[in-house]
Amino acid sequence: MEHPENERQYKGLKVQTSPSSPGSVNPYLSKNGPIRRRELSVDDYVNGILKGDTMILSRAVTLLESTRPEHEIKAQHVIERCLPYAGNSVRVGISGVPGSGKSTSIDEFGIYVLNKYGGKLAVLAIDPSSERSKGSILGDKTRMEKLSVHPKSFIRPSPSSGSLGGVARKTRESIILCEAAGYDKIFVETVGVGQSETACQSMVDFFLLIQVAGTGDELQGIKRGIMEIVDGIAVNKCDGDNMQRCQIAASYYRNALHLFPESPSGWMPKVLTYSGFYALGIKELWDSIYEYFDFVKKNGYFEHRRMEQNRYWMYETINEHLKNSFYQDPEIEEMLKNEESAVFNGKQTSFVAAQQVLDFYFKKLGLENE
Ligand code: GDP
Repeated sequence: MEHPENERQYKGLKVQTSPSSPGSVNPYLSKNGPIRRRELSVDDYVNGILKGDTMILSRAVTLLESTRPEHEIKAQHVIERCLPYAGNSVRVGISGVPGSGKSTSIDEFGIYVLNKYGGKLAVLAIDPSSERSKGSILGDKTRMEKLSVHPKSFIRPSPSSGSLGGVARKTRESIILCEAAGYDKIFVETVGVGQSETACQSMVDFFLLIQVAGTGDELQGIKRGIMEIVDGIAVNKCDGDNMQRCQIAASYYRNALHLFPESPSGWMPKVLTYSGFYALGIKELWDSIYEYFDFVKKNGYFEHRRMEQNRYWMYETINEHLKNSFYQDPEIEEMLKNEESAVFNGKQTSFVAAQQVLDFYFKKLGLENE
């Protein structure tokens, strides 16, 4: 329809009719609010994963991280169906305190192994404590600039919820899904504080500790337990005028490692220096890690370690379920509160209080505690 102002008396004016609605800035945005994603069946997940579909793999990892019981059950079915296709990989744990250069290094390591050995790389994390674990995938993307845009890599931040045990179990289950999706190299990153190194070591074939040169008394900052589980130590930031200090630190670690009994693998952990930032010494480090794989694959320890880890995880899972069943019971929660204050006020000994709660629990289950 013509605009009224285009009538003769308004000579010299020509008004165009405007389009009825402006074009959408993002043509993919639904006009009816956010697009609800179709719920996937177990078959959809499994088929997608086996095809290497990263979108479905991501959604499967999200599913297994969910705490909703129906999601947990579904995730377990997916994992079970993926298991026969998993395992064909090398899994490397990479640990170091914040600032030791893990992200910078993993970025370089990842690109290096993909160029040299081909295949696909998944980077997962166990980090129950940090702010970063609150799910900022963008954070992880920017931390690993090169890998995050590499078509053969899949980066996933740490699951954020729950105890270390729970977070670690989910990371381990993510490994299975990634392997079924064809990722034959898995890095598991962990922050070198607390117990997460032990959890990490229980799911990898090679555990690498990243250290930086300190003030000279390097071993002060390294916990005894860690020295026992490392398969290799890499002293990072060996560049510029820091090189000599790194060499000194490396020889400290070498000497210290000699004080520990030989590892059951028969492998003597090596200490190497490198610079993640300037990409120096990366080849030597990875040659040594692959030398380890050859060594333990030949002597049978590779398989043996994985079997041991399976056993460990069976018990871990049982323990976690038992604990949850107990602590998440509303009656137990209530009773614990009362017993706690009785113990606190000195009205009850801790042993009697514990016994009472346990007795109640076992009675409830129909079991008598002997
Ligand atoms: P993360 O907290 O362990 O992940 O450590 P980042 O990778 O974020 O590194 C912490 C800081 O150390 C950053 O400022 C890096 O630029 C720096 N850095 C990392 N690797 C090197 C290195 O090889 N040499 C030097 N000189 N600095 C490095």
